[in-house]
Amino acid sequence: MHELSLCRSIAGIVEGARGDRAVATVHLRVGRLRQVVPETLVYCWGLVVDGTPLAGSVLDVESVPVVLDCRSCGETTEVAHVLVLTCAACESGDVSLRTGEEFLVTSLDLAAVSPSPPSAPSSGTPVPDPPAPDQRETHHGPVPPSR
Ligand SMILES: [Zn+2]
Repeated sequence: MHELSLCRSIAGIVEGARGDRAVATVHLRVGRLRQVVPETLVYCWGLVVDGTPLAGSVLDVESVPVVLDCRSCGETTEVAHVLVLTCAACESGDVSLRTGEEFLVTSLDLAAVSPSPPSAPSSGTPVPDPPAPDQRETHHGPVPPSR
């Protein structure tokens, strides 16, 4: 399966880019014309990085739709069936490919760096809760008056 060799090349790219920093998440953009199954890619990533410094990192695959620019009618349409690259508006085959062939690592999320920061004497256990704007819950706790 070519997902395995793809993951090996991704791992090579990430290894070169990360320096000596730990990587938490690798963001990847893959066009649908690549005929890659994202789930398979994620699975293979786990196999490839096992036992390497990248073990435990997660592959985040963004699947990019196939988008065509039609030279006949000027429409820009998304292709539903990647085996037939024709304009979805007028069915012309005189089209140019806008997206769908991507295969690139877009960014890396690095894990927490420097295990022993010199200026952190407090031995508490601070838990920085990141705000979750998507699932805002009704706040029942004491709310200080703002004015
Ligand atoms: Zn067209």
